[in-house]
Amino acid sequence: MSHVPVSLADRIRIVLVGTQHPGNLGSAARAMRTMGLTRMVLVAPEKAPNLDTASMAAGAEALVFDAPVFPTLEAAVADCRLVLGCTARSRRIALEELSPSEAAARAVTAAAADADVALVFGRERTGLDNHELQLCHAAVHIPSDPAFSSLNLAAAVQVLAYEARVALLATAQDAAPEPDEPTEPPASHAELEGFFAQLSDTLAAIDFHKGRTPESAERKLRRIFLRAQMNAREVRLMRGVLADAQRMARLAGSSDS
Ligand code: SAH
Repeated sequence: MSHVPVSLADRIRIVLVGTQHPGNLGSAARAMRTMGLTRMVLVAPEKAPNLDTASMAAGAEALVFDAPVFPTLEAAVADCRLVLGCTARSRRIALEELSPSEAAARAVTAAAADADVALVFGRERTGLDNHELQLCHAAVHIPSDPAFSSLNLAAAVQVLAYEARVALLATAQDAAPEPDEPTEPPASHAELEGFFAQLSDTLAAIDFHKGRTPESAERKLRRIFLRAQMNAREVRLMRGVLADAQRMARLAGSSDS
């Protein structure tokens, strides 16, 4: 099972600014929890979390009820070294615009360098104001239909949380290879050539070519196996398969005669 180091996910906080519908707080919490993010931060919500919050959170309500509440965005992100503001509109402010996957990659790189990161989301009606966007290091825009560009707040949180999870999982896999797949170097030239020689003998033994010249098929098979970049263990496994095919061909040959 894939495992994301908790400390990296914990460096990424979802900041919800001026949220108007308590139900959206619950939906956003659920969206975060499904993707392994647990740090929700609220900035001056219009209404306190309520029963709608709990019902939309579907078990993830602790994220909202434990969320720190700040009066301003400045205060909520004061300790963050990367602040990314999600916006439904591309605004004419001098701010670099990132796609969700670019934003996630940047967030995870920063988190891996022990920086706290904020992904900031605006109000349902009016989004983030220009002052709030200026506080961000870059804007994130989900490439929605320009004629209908505004996602529901929790849906936008879901997209970013998903991208963050994908990036976190990729980092976790880079850091800890699967135990049954030790990072063996690719097989040596000689090991591969030994395999190709045995493959050639096996194809002849099982009468694969049926009178055709073997070169073309062997060239194509060679290309397939070179693309696989087998390590020494995998070459031994393939040679075991070939050895059995050769043995069966010998048995078939001796029962024919
Ligand atoms: N009418 C508002 C939309 C607010 S939707 C506006 O035009 O800004 C609530 C929040 O969800 C937004 O502030 C933003 O943080 C996020 N959001 C919605 N659609 C988005 C999109 N296409 N890309 C990035 N964030 C989006």
